[in-house]
Amino acid sequence: MKIILNNNNLRKIIRPISDIGFVPTMGGIHKGHISLIKKSIELNKKTIVSIFVNPKQFNNIKDFKSYPFNIENDLIILKKIKKLDFLYIPKFKDIYENKNKSQIKIKRKDKILCAKYRKGHFEGVLDVMNRLTTLINPKKIFMGKKDYQQLFLVKNFIEKRFNTKVIGCKTIRNKNKLALSSRNLLLNKQELKDVEKISIQFLNLKKKIKSTNNINRFLQRSKKELERFFNIKIEYLENRNTKNLMLSKKYQSSKIFISYYYKNIRFIDNF
Ligand code: AMP
Repeated sequence: MKIILNNNNLRKIIRPISDIGFVPTMGGIHKGHISLIKKSIELNKKTIVSIFVNPKQFNNIKDFKSYPFNIENDLIILKKIKKLDFLYIPKFKDIYENKNKSQIKIKRKDKILCAKYRKGHFEGVLDVMNRLTTLINPKKIFMGKKDYQQLFLVKNFIEKRFNTKVIGCKTIRNKNKLALSSRNLLLNKQELKDVEKISIQFLNLKKKIKSTNNINRFLQRSKKELERFFNIKIEYLENRNTKNLMLSKKYQSSKIFISYYYKNIRFIDNF
């Protein structure tokens, strides 16, 4: 695995390669990231992973400052992946070398779920993905369904502008059904147990709505119960169509989308 630390080297090394798969990350590498990398290795001649904690997509400075960042640990994990060709670790100035202010705006219909609660977040994500895709020109980009709305918005944005396909990959969970996330590193053992229990309750909701007449009313009631029982703040708990993310009354072709705060740490998932 070759480590690339600036754009000059990136351009020199990557330009001649026509079939490259790209896995963008913010570090805190875990098995969820590794599954994306393996998919890219399977489907492309070469694979590049990036680690860049993009300050412009954090709507909350505290959240940015506490984001788990441990490059030494990430390197140990990534070096073990045979056939991973490149790791790109840009600096802020590499990504934002083009200083033109981004004109990217989220459409009003898309200001739902995380876009409603994290002002400017997806504008920051689309801007950085636009810059990374311009630099790397990958044939495919691999992203997790764990961040389903991100995948939805990035796919629509990138596939319109570039000759690049965005591939959604399944959510990897631990043995207690908790979706792997870099933010789990912020939890101690007991806290981890708590969020695992919460995750199992969400999974139970998914089972229950199969035979529920009024899914939205049921979710509203469950939201209050779960908040009280687990002492968490749920931002949204909504059943939405997987194709267009519109609110849905049906079990079929839909997912339950969840965002909640446990002890000031924000978690998202979908089932
Ligand atoms: P992050 O480093 O959190 O920005 O995530 C980088 C990529 O990994 C994104 O496309 C995420 O959706 C994806 N990802 C994060 N967690 C998981 C997971 N548990 N399973 C699959 N993909 C994931």
